[in-house]
Amino acid sequence: MSGGSFNYPCHTWDLGDINGKRGDLEEMASELACLGYAQDAARETEELLVMLRQWEVRATVRLERLREVWKAVEWWRSCDYSEDQVREALAEYRSGDTHTPETGMAKPDVGPTRDQLMAAVARVRARHTRVAVTDECYECSKKDGPDYSTAWPCPTIAALDGVGEGS
Ligand SMILES: [Zn+2]
Repeated sequence: MSGGSFNYPCHTWDLGDINGKRGDLEEMASELACLGYAQDAARETEELLVMLRQWEVRATVRLERLREVWKAVEWWRSCDYSEDQVREALAEYRSGDTHTPETGMAKPDVGPTRDQLMAAVARVRARHTRVAVTDECYECSKKDGPDYSTAWPCPTIAALDGVGEGS
């Protein structure tokens, strides 16, 4: 085999770069799994991929929540917005959130919006991801000891049945 088949993820130290090389990491995980004597390294490579996917979903949800506040502050600082518009953006940001940052408790008088429900589905999906090497659910299989495994799709993913997929 010639060098560079996996685009050198071994030379990547920056997390932004490694996030862009997930396809190469998938191939590396498969290669390790095929060796037959590197299952631990294959599994940990897969776990790293799962962590990157989970991080992406969580970061995207927060990014969407914060984007307008960031924009208002930036526009205000470059004198295109007034400070009142920053306050308005903050009020909007807070009104779209049923969870108070301090306690994480749901406010009793506010129902979740469709976006919040979809975000919740996305968070569940981010936890229950397929481990390609073993074709099992990462979340369900890690709970009950090393020999326990839940085949993909697990009951949780089956229950969601297409809701929020790919969004
Ligand atoms: Zn699961």
